[in-house]
Amino acid sequence: MTDSDYKATLERAHTTTKGMTEGKNANYIPFLASVDPSLFGLAIVTVAGDVYESGDSRYEFALESISKVFTMALALEDIGQEVFHRKVGADPTGLPFNSVMALEMHDDMPLTPLVNAGAMSSTSVLTAKDSDERWARILDVQSRFAGRKIELSDEVNNSEQSTNAHNRAIAWLLYSGGAMYADPMEVCEVYTRQCSTLVNTVDLAVMGATLAAGGVNPVTGKRVVTAANVPHMLAEMVMEGLYTKSGDWAYNVGLPGKSGVGGGLVAVAPGKLAIAGFSPPLDAAGNSVRAQAAIAQIADELKLGLYRVPGLG
Ligand code: GLN
Repeated sequence: MTDSDYKATLERAHTTTKGMTEGKNANYIPFLASVDPSLFGLAIVTVAGDVYESGDSRYEFALESISKVFTMALALEDIGQEVFHRKVGADPTGLPFNSVMALEMHDDMPLTPLVNAGAMSSTSVLTAKDSDERWARILDVQSRFAGRKIELSDEVNNSEQSTNAHNRAIAWLLYSGGAMYADPMEVCEVYTRQCSTLVNTVDLAVMGATLAAGGVNPVTGKRVVTAANVPHMLAEMVMEGLYTKSGDWAYNVGLPGKSGVGGGLVAVAPGKLAIAGFSPPLDAAGNSVRAQAAIAQIADELKLGLYRVPGLG
């Protein structure tokens, strides 16, 4: 693949999918409802650190649930993959990302770090003397994945914290089930902050490319996560990265992915590259409609799907 092949593939995907009108902005977080729905950015970052971008790729948006992946990375570093597996789990819930029923069906255990319950559980297992340190460590790991200093948006954070009753209820259920490993309200507050940081589409592709490169950020050259932990993260992204659409995504695209209700979506082709997309309108499961379509097209053109049999198409 030459530079111009990557650029042409990105431009083609942007052109074919930008006219899609399906989906709508998340509206249960007031700030997200106010973002321009026509925004659309795409980026590819390779494991060599080459960056390709198209459209509104420098527009900053809320990271939201994609943050769950980076908190998982830190949790794996802190407590090890075996303990993490036991405390948080690794199975898909088959239910929406904020489902209370999923907890009720499983003794208030979260099953996976990539739904709200498991994400708060992951936040709670981090080594930290207080919630300031917990938050500082999360912001630091997000920054190391992105290769630049990531910051909190007070506007997004205030909007989320003031409409966060449902997540607080989940935090207490986790506590009652024994899967909340620090003060539930402090953890919920930090979890909500970790969702309220701003990234652009290129940042998101760099974050994904860090996983594609086995845990080394290809732009800074610095190791962010132990190589042996990366497959556990990618497996979770396959199982639960797009919530109740994770199966459809695996079937159609065949790459680990993670979405956020801010409109971001990142897909990882291990050993090769990451593709990121951002556009606010979401499908019913909470995944960006345009980003899914564009990334699917790019993955298909570049033959990136993990389940393809090499040499046989
Ligand atoms: N902050 C959001 C929430 O907790 C994140 C959800 C998401 O992106 N799926 O509801």
